[in-house]
Amino acid sequence: MSITVQSFGIKEALNKLHIKEINHGSAYGINSFGEGELLNSYSPVDGELIGKVTATTKEEYQKIMASAEEAFTTWRIMPAPQRGEIVRQFGEKLRELKEPLGKLVSYEMGKSYQEGLGEVQEMIDICDFAVGLSRQLHGLTMHSERPGHRMYEQYHPLGIVGIISAFNFPVAVWAWNTALAWICGDVCIWKPSEKAPLCGVACQNIIAEILEKNNLPAGISCLINGDYKVGEFMTSDKRIPLVSATGSIRMGKIVAQAVAARLGKSLLELGGNNAIIVTPDADIKMTVIGAVFGAVGTAGQRCTSTRRLIIHESIYDTVKNALVDAYQQIRIGNPLDENNHVGPLIDKDAVNMYQKALEKAKSEGGKTVVEGAVLSGEGYQSGCYVKPAIVEAKNEFEIVQEETFAPILYLLKYSGEVENAIAIQNGVAQGLSSAIMTNNLREAERFLSAAGSDCGIANVNIGTSGAEIGGAFGGEKETGGGRESGSDAWKIYMRRQTNTINYTTELPLAQGIKFDL
Ligand code: NAD
Repeated sequence: MSITVQSFGIKEALNKLHIKEINHGSAYGINSFGEGELLNSYSPVDGELIGKVTATTKEEYQKIMASAEEAFTTWRIMPAPQRGEIVRQFGEKLRELKEPLGKLVSYEMGKSYQEGLGEVQEMIDICDFAVGLSRQLHGLTMHSERPGHRMYEQYHPLGIVGIISAFNFPVAVWAWNTALAWICGDVCIWKPSEKAPLCGVACQNIIAEILEKNNLPAGISCLINGDYKVGEFMTSDKRIPLVSATGSIRMGKIVAQAVAARLGKSLLELGGNNAIIVTPDADIKMTVIGAVFGAVGTAGQRCTSTRRLIIHESIYDTVKNALVDAYQQIRIGNPLDENNHVGPLIDKDAVNMYQKALEKAKSEGGKTVVEGAVLSGEGYQSGCYVKPAIVEAKNEFEIVQEETFAPILYLLKYSGEVENAIAIQNGVAQGLSSAIMTNNLREAERFLSAAGSDCGIANVNIGTSGAEIGGAFGGEKETGGGRESGSDAWKIYMRRQTNTINYTTELPLAQGIKFDL
């Protein structure tokens, strides 16, 4: 791998993360790999080539899978709290390396340095959660219908968990999956986004050092690199009982079919089309902060970014004007400079999609409230910086029905009761995150009721983005139905087994069936 970057303290950060040589197509410890084509990692911040990573070939993949299979035989029988101890050490190392890793996330992906640090903090949080969980992987006991019998259910590790992740959370999503999968006794094989491969290498280096120090097999954590073709190695591989895939709905539909064709399990975390309902009882100041952060944070490239604001007609103009004022204050520029609010989009393709979406919104009858633009000149050389835009629109516009991964906020008006706003909010194919801003208890409870929001996440007086790891995270409908992170999301990483034990000298059959010899 070659490193070309000299500025922003990036080189120092890469050094601290041990990103030095070409050796990045493989599980740690299998150093002879590196036959595949080179993937270039360009920073959207300044357009510089940060480094090159070797894509994993099919032959290398087979060797990596062999190392994962072997590692599983050791790891699955290690007591869960001991596996938790490894995850604890991983979390400690992340605390130590929070700044360089946060910086790399910011530089390779383009989110603000604060958000890069926040992403590493999410990794630390899920490690803490997983460590505690490693002492409480509980099952249930049931009363048997047969005398002298006992029934219970227990959870065992699944095997090799495949993780496919998106560019926008290049490290946290892997950690959400892997910290839980590890304490459950699974080993993991990860394909990070081809748009942020160095983040994958950095994480792999951190965990590999810990495994080596504890004399554990390297195959507990495997890394493969490349685009969708490398992802397909995993989706078609019967040795992988669970594929956890985060990304676009288009990708999720392909992955789900490939995994289902071999009767594997998939955990899908796909696109959102998230809305905030603003009722006449909303606190306008809170609404504006929540909506602006939700719409422009990470340059609109969060799965939970706020894309639609559904505002009651009685306060529509007040909210619109407050948003216009707030948007004038947004500073766009280098995300490593903490004075800036908004960094670049991931690449020029994303910029094209942003431009096309704005044109389409106009052609469908949308009215621009805050004009978008692609920025150029000093500080914007990468060509990936755009102005956050606001468009007055209708929910039925085709473009409003889609997720555009860019800072475009659609304003939608509702009249009458909150049910009308909920119908608009639910009137899209995706079902990830939703929110209501109101001080009216009745409206809030109607939004949260069975007839309310149909999303996996429904918030009151909080925006749509910025979930905590303690709750299960994921969405319904075309968002894929998967749940990761907190609560009982760990169960998907395990197989359930029901055990019945007979401690008598008789052999009674269930349902009273007689079978005498
Ligand atoms: P993407 O779908 O282009 O790629 C995601 C990953 O899937 C990449 O690693 C890619 O190489 C891989 N991939 C693509 N096609 C594949 C195939 N046929 N087989 C196997 N792997 C394949 O998404 P992206 O542009 O990186 O990320 C943005 C999308 O991710 C948005 O839609 C966003 O909403 C979504 N996302 C969702 C969540 C969530 O938790 N719901 C979180 C983050 C991002």
